[in-house]
Amino acid sequence: MIEKVASSMLPVDEEFRIQKNSIHSQASDANQKRICIVTGTHGDELEGQYVCYEVQRRLQENLQHLKGIVDIYPALNPLGVDTITRGVPKFDLDMNRIFPGNTEGTMVEYAAAKIIEDMSGADMVIDIHASNIFLKEIPQVRINEMCQETLVPYAKRLNIDYIWIHSAATVLESTLAHSLNMTGTPCLVVEMGVGMRITREYGNQLTDGIFTLMKDLGIWDGPVTEPKEPIVSTDGNVSYLNAAYSGIFVSCVEHWINVKKGEKIGEIVDPLTGALLEEVLSPVTGVLFTLREYPVVYEGSLVGRILERD
Ligand SMILES: [Zn+2]
Repeated sequence: MIEKVASSMLPVDEEFRIQKNSIHSQASDANQKRICIVTGTHGDELEGQYVCYEVQRRLQENLQHLKGIVDIYPALNPLGVDTITRGVPKFDLDMNRIFPGNTEGTMVEYAAAKIIEDMSGADMVIDIHASNIFLKEIPQVRINEMCQETLVPYAKRLNIDYIWIHSAATVLESTLAHSLNMTGTPCLVVEMGVGMRITREYGNQLTDGIFTLMKDLGIWDGPVTEPKEPIVSTDGNVSYLNAAYSGIFVSCVEHWINVKKGEKIGEIVDPLTGALLEEVLSPVTGVLFTLREYPVVYEGSLVGRILERD
C-alpha cells in the first residue's frame, strides 16, 4: 500500500511528496515486527533504488513467507533524485543534516520530522547510501562508536564486506541514523558502490543480507543465505591515499584486494606532456576498500583508503 509520509504544496500547484510502500503479511497479528528500507536522502546516490526494487520483487514472489511489515522509502529527497542533486534543490540543503526536523519549521524540516515520526518504533531501519561519483566503495556499514554495542551484531548479519566503526563524518548528529539510534530505533547506515550509478552485484548482495536480517527479526520465514563474515575496524587502522600532483589517475589494481606496503595502486599522469607525475604506492599492508573511480585528480584528492592488516 503506497502511503504519503510527508507532503507540502510547491509554488506552482505541484506537490513535494515523500512516499513509502508498506508491505504487510497476510496474517492479522497486531504485534508484527517492522523493518524500514530507506534511501534517496542524497539525490545523486542511486544504488539503493535497485535494492528497493529487488527487495519488493522477492517479497512479491513469496508473500506467504512474510510475517511482518516491510516499509520501503525510495526517496527521502524526491526533488534531489529527480534532478540528480545531492541536496534539496534550490535550498542547497543536505537532507541528512536536518534531523530530527521540526513540524513547525520549513518544508524540509517538517518533512524530516514526519519521516522520524513514521519510522520511530520500527525494529530495524536500513539507510542505504552510495559513494559520490569520484570513489567506489565496497558494501559496508558505518556505525557511530557510541552505538557499536547495539548495532554491530545486526550489521554482521547484513552480508556486507566491511563494518567501519567511526567517530565522526557520515555518522554525526543531525543525520537520520543518529536521530533514530538516539531514540531507541536501531538504524544501520549502508554505504556502497559509486554515485549516480547502480552496481547490481552489490545490490543483490545487500538484498540477500536484508532477508537474513528479516529472518532474524521474525519478519520473514523463507530461505536465506548465510551472510559473509565482514571485516570490522575502527578509525585507527585506516590509511588515506591522497594525490601528490594534479593530473589523471589511472589505477592498476582491482578494488577490494589485499595490497602490500609499497605496492603500486596506480599512476598520476599528465596527458599534455606525457609525463608520469606520480606512482601512487600503498603506505601500508592491508585491504584496499575505497578506490578512485573518477580519473581527474587535484593535489590532495582522495585516491583510495586502505585498512591496515597483516
Ligand atoms: Zn549519502
